Amino acid sequence: MSDALPSSVLVREVGPRDGFQNEPEVIPTAEKVRLIDLLSATGIPRIEVTSFVRPDVIPQLSDAEEVLASIEQRDGVSFSVLIPNGRGLERALGLRDRFDEANFFLSASETHNRENVNRTIEESLSELEQVIPEARAEGLRCEGVISTSFGCPYEGRVDPGAVIGIAERLAAAGCEEVGFGDTTGMANPAQVGAFFGEATERLPGVELTAHFHNTRGQGLANAYASLAAGVTSFESSFGELGGCPVPPGSVGNIATEDLVSMFSEMGVETGVDLGRLVEASAAAQEVLGRTLGSHVLKAGPVRWQT
Ligand code: ZN
Repeated sequence: MSDALPSSVLVREVGPRDGFQNEPEVIPTAEKVRLIDLLSATGIPRIEVTSFVRPDVIPQLSDAEEVLASIEQRDGVSFSVLIPNGRGLERALGLRDRFDEANFFLSASETHNRENVNRTIEESLSELEQVIPEARAEGLRCEGVISTSFGCPYEGRVDPGAVIGIAERLAAAGCEEVGFGDTTGMANPAQVGAFFGEATERLPGVELTAHFHNTRGQGLANAYASLAAGVTSFESSFGELGGCPVPPGSVGNIATEDLVSMFSEMGVETGVDLGRLVEASAAAQEVLGRTLGSHVLKAGPVRWQT
């Protein structure tokens, strides 16, 4: 850990996947495409655009192929898709030229993993150790995402050493990046700072990504603690969309515009045009017909000149 904060970060927008899949209504495909195109135009470098989960399990994302085929490809924006298993990868590869990155996931706690994908952690890891090299062989950059990395709603404390052990296996399987999700917003800044300090030492050469939920209002504090620990990769969701369906009532990811606003006010470069991002979130708010949780969407970007 150095005293100086990183001068720039990469933010991955996950709203079109993490957000749209948790909406009670299915958003029309054309609206999804329009919103993703608005996001691409903000300068954000990475967008997770959809997921190849089984359409009967998550009907909200059953249009993955249509979305991928229709969104505008733009220089400097890398699209990723969430892949649950080998069959999901097979579907995604039908549109191989439309995306750059594959994201794989499992939980750090046995109970949450069983609730989510009905497998043990070992079963999930063994399958991913088969699938990730297949994705790599297709030239895809791979990210592994570990849910409940900082606490589990069923099991409580999660051993940080065990989480890093899962990350080591994902990295050995071919993930250049590993994301750590605070799926139900249990983390605090002290815990997060200590965690990333240890993870950085044990995972040299692996890009470490912080993915926080604002369930208890501590998402941005945790993002700052990660930044101070040297993390330069973050995931967030425009409008504060998203959350985890298990347990019910859990709420959103940190809002991308809140995160980008904090970073840019601190002089940390994101490359994102905040005004355009707020417009994208306003458009999502209109499509969904309800007020979204994002603060900067309500208050607008900070203005230092009148
Ligand atoms: Zn999330």
